[in-house]
Amino acid sequence: MTVLAPTAQSMNAMSCHICGLLVSTDYITAHSAHCPRCDARLHSRKPNSLNRTLALLIAAAIFYVPANIYPVLTLVSFGKATTNTIMGGVIELAQGGQWTIAVIVFVASVLVPIFKIVALLFLVLSVRMKKTRALRQRSVLYRFTEFVGRWSMIDIFMISILIALVKLQSIATVTAGPGAIAFAAVVIITMFAAMAFDPRLIWDVSREEDDRN
Ligand SMILES: [Zn+2]
Repeated sequence: MTVLAPTAQSMNAMSCHICGLLVSTDYITAHSAHCPRCDARLHSRKPNSLNRTLALLIAAAIFYVPANIYPVLTLVSFGKATTNTIMGGVIELAQGGQWTIAVIVFVASVLVPIFKIVALLFLVLSVRMKKTRALRQRSVLYRFTEFVGRWSMIDIFMISILIALVKLQSIATVTAGPGAIAFAAVVIITMFAAMAFDPRLIWDVSREEDDRN
């Protein structure tokens, strides 16, 4: 049984999303709905958190398709153009014996985005279905999802470094393909989705349950 500590909401206060200052609801009714310290707008919970997260997840899932179908990279060398999709690049790296890089690219560009979308979808649905089990584990899952997301950008960095390096030599040209733009969109949108989700909602559900008993 999880012991429920009091929340700001249950003690008639709101914490600022930006600076963390705890503001009493009396102050808000008497003065303004803005944080007295940093002037950010105060919300007890992120507004429309579940719907916004869900909408962003759907958008990310849509972009995930072109990110994997279209080439992320086009290399033109001696008049010959070769294009590579993410998976094509992974296979080529593995065949070339570059196992470490192949694994890094596969984990960062294929597994991490899928994991993020599925994990956040699970969190949104579990809150919506008012699940009261594994509260702490779900909070840990949320924090892990937020932490792991930034590492997907490693791929975009690799493409930009590669383009810069090849441009220096001027024998070959490398350009980012449409897949790279779609992939960047997936990474950025899932980051926003993770930010839109309010993890406190996980705990609110069990509080409602507690009040009823
Ligand atoms: Zn503040």
